[in-house]
Amino acid sequence: MTGGDPIGRALMERLDAFAAFSEEAGALTRLYLTPAHRAAADRLAGWMSEAGMTVRLDGAGTVVGRYEGAEPGRPALLIGSHIDTVRNAGAYDGNLGVLAGVAAVAELHRAGERLPFAVEVLGFGDEEGVRFPVTLTGSRAVAGTADPAALDAVDADGISVREALRRFGCTGDLAAVARRRADVLAFLEVHIEQGPVLEAAGLPLGVVTAINGASRFALTVTGTAGHAGTVPMGLRRDALAAAAEMVLAVEARGAAEPDLVATVGRIAAVPGAVNVIPGAVRFTLDVRAPRDDARAAAAADILAACRAVAARRGVGFDAERTHDAPAVACAGPLIAALEAAAARAGVPPHRLPSGAGHDAMALAALCPVGMLFVRCAGGISHHPAEAITADDAGLAVRVLLDTIRHLDPSGLERT
Ligand SMILES: [Zn+2]
Repeated sequence: MTGGDPIGRALMERLDAFAAFSEEAGALTRLYLTPAHRAAADRLAGWMSEAGMTVRLDGAGTVVGRYEGAEPGRPALLIGSHIDTVRNAGAYDGNLGVLAGVAAVAELHRAGERLPFAVEVLGFGDEEGVRFPVTLTGSRAVAGTADPAALDAVDADGISVREALRRFGCTGDLAAVARRRADVLAFLEVHIEQGPVLEAAGLPLGVVTAINGASRFALTVTGTAGHAGTVPMGLRRDALAAAAEMVLAVEARGAAEPDLVATVGRIAAVPGAVNVIPGAVRFTLDVRAPRDDARAAAAADILAACRAVAARRGVGFDAERTHDAPAVACAGPLIAALEAAAARAGVPPHRLPSGAGHDAMALAALCPVGMLFVRCAGGISHHPAEAITADDAGLAVRVLLDTIRHLDPSGLERT
């Protein structure tokens, strides 16, 4: 549906125009600190100025627009997302959240409305981590958790983040970018869902409860290789057949509770020949959940199930933890505020966890964070087919604006 919502239509036009800032003709690729990023940052700064904001570029390449409150210098509600993209990206991942923030402030500006706090819109430059082997550089710098070693990371041409920032016109002084807690109320991020849940539920918007924590493991099953023609079935210790049972155990445990997901994304049989019984199998396990205790319990259950399969089949089993990131909870008052605004807009409340990482994850180290998800067609993201409707985009801006207008700063000034 393309609706008659003028805010939604204007936002979609902007998002389309913004997608032209790309390193490739006919596709959207906008990596951190590239000329395409520069051009997009300048365009964004122009839109922020038109919306009544004072604009600056911070030391990490983040475009920051500030709309003062009733009195200048009040703590700021931060609204933001990222304007970098993956290669051959969709137009909405990240960019929607930044331009929705600008659209909300533009409405305040149009109405001559000042709030008891300032509103800042931030367009971060490095969420996807494609050009350099670092990620969330801009949001971590704002939160004061940036690792100075990130400046030494280099791209495929050997250019460091430090050098790229210098060429971009930024100081690269990440420590100076950090905000004081007292100057910040909270962080809100609007983002496409990048999954199929809202579409399946027939809902335009959802309120995020938490950004899932993740645990990853490298798993190895060791059996006995043998001739596929000469070793009878009863005398085999087939590592791949054992691993197949383990994969099904992963799926069953993942499906056993809501909001938990467990995935085997990569599997390789050794030696991997058509006429050889697999002697070893290496595979991966990825477990995510909005609660750390649920994730830890599921991972422990899965590994126990794998060991049981291994014992019954007489094969070896080894598990190595390769990654562990805790869940980041969204703040209760912000979940409630977003949900109340959605309800006032006639959207039935729907809470869901985020399975993907976002800038809000980094900002949570500084202040309370809240996220509003927008339905996307087929749950498709990181792909040119990424799609949202103008009606949903307009609704997201209205709910964001209504949330800002009703926000009670007293509950957010301290954590
Ligand atoms: Zn994103």
